[in-house]
Amino acid sequence: MISDAIDYSLTYCRRKTIGIYVSAERGVEVRVPYFVSRAEAERFVAEKQDWILRKVQEFAAVPARHEPQFQWGSRHYVLGEAQSFHHDEDSQPDILLPGTASDPASRIETRIATWYRQEALCLFEERHQHWCEQLQWMQLPKSWVEVRVMRRRWGSCRRNGKITLNTALFKYPLECVDTVIVHELCHLLEFNHSPKFYRLMTQAMPTWKKWDRLLTDLAQRY
Ligand SMILES: [Zn+2]
Repeated sequence: MISDAIDYSLTYCRRKTIGIYVSAERGVEVRVPYFVSRAEAERFVAEKQDWILRKVQEFAAVPARHEPQFQWGSRHYVLGEAQSFHHDEDSQPDILLPGTASDPASRIETRIATWYRQEALCLFEERHQHWCEQLQWMQLPKSWVEVRVMRRRWGSCRRNGKITLNTALFKYPLECVDTVIVHELCHLLEFNHSPKFYRLMTQAMPTWKKWDRLLTDLAQRY
């Protein structure tokens, strides 16, 4: 029986079909029209067991969204790993920054943001260089990288070769960073998202879809 495997609530309501809803907040809810018997509803749920279990596991695997705190000792994501930031060497932080114990949150936030921008630019330039070498066969026009905090995009590419990358990308795994860089490099040849562009992208980086999905997924979490 499904009830041995999964907890679910069953409620009768005005509707035409049985609906199964899985959410992080309320677990598994089954809504049943008045004309369907309880046994029928349970049978329906049993048939959908695999789907329900998959959904429940998906929710279990997603941690609550990480909201960064700006105080010494707080953790922030760097290339997919949560790292501690502190001004005090004795606290053995992952990242040591200049500062004092009395720094207000706003100053700590600024120091962390500065560190991100510097480190991001350094890594992005290195990865950009790496991919330009990897993709020599594409005969890409010359380009360079700048970083900026962007609201809605991971990157952009101008016809003059200027590639702008979102500083926030530095929070995510290297493969995600690489995917965005390769994406922008492909725009140097195709200034659109046509099938031709995506064919180029797949030639340049056959695994790009996987990392693109991961980035979208992780961006919901931190
Ligand atoms: Zn694009």
